[in-house]
Amino acid sequence: MTSNTGEVSSSEGWNWSFFDKVEGLDSKKMENCFSCGICVGDCPAAKNSSYNFRKIICDVALGEEEKVLSSKEIWYCYTCFQCIPKCPWSIGIPYVIYRLRKLAMEEGYGWDLIEILSGVGRNLIEIGLSISPRDYARMDPKKAEMELAKSRLEMGLSERYEVSEKAIEELKIILGETGFREMLDNLEERVKESKESSENY
Ligand code: SF4
Ligand code: SF4
Repeated sequence: MTSNTGEVSSSEGWNWSFFDKVEGLDSKKMENCFSCGICVGDCPAAKNSSYNFRKIICDVALGEEEKVLSSKEIWYCYTCFQCIPKCPWSIGIPYVIYRLRKLAMEEGYGWDLIEILSGVGRNLIEIGLSISPRDYARMDPKKAEMELAKSRLEMGLSERYEVSEKAIEELKIILGETGFREMLDNLEERVKESKESSENY
């Protein structure tokens, strides 16, 4: 049954085809979820964006497959796991979000965001830091670098944080041995293919 806000209050009228595709969802637990909302209040992604897990899961129950998989919201979760101990029904929100992202990627959605995330991995291999001022290229990288240096100096730190050559070499070995580098190479290849072939990119 759905309310006039589109929210779901019981499993009557659910569309099971999408619900079942998002493996691991328990319909009994989800009914409690729709009237809960505890996680939304404390979620940093919800505070800073239109992300709302409860709304996403309501849309899943209503069978809004296209709407959910093509949405930017499923990419807004920070995977910070703050919600895990707070959820009274052990829904495992970030894991549900992972599964939705995987389904979205299979449909050709989200690859523009995967490209940004793979850049974080590439930074780690090349400079030993996941984020660097060069990531602000779309803004003003020089200005970003200067502001970062200014903030660091104000905090009594050196102008910029640099990882030693030795540490970067060690990190490269670890990331190679653990398969991270290979996984990233594959991911970048898929981003490239997706750019060439998908209308959804
Ligand atoms: S805390 Fe758990 S049960 Fe409550 S709205 Fe969030 S996911 Fe649903
Ligand atoms: S893991 Fe995602 S849903 Fe949970 S609190 Fe963090 S940002 Fe919010």
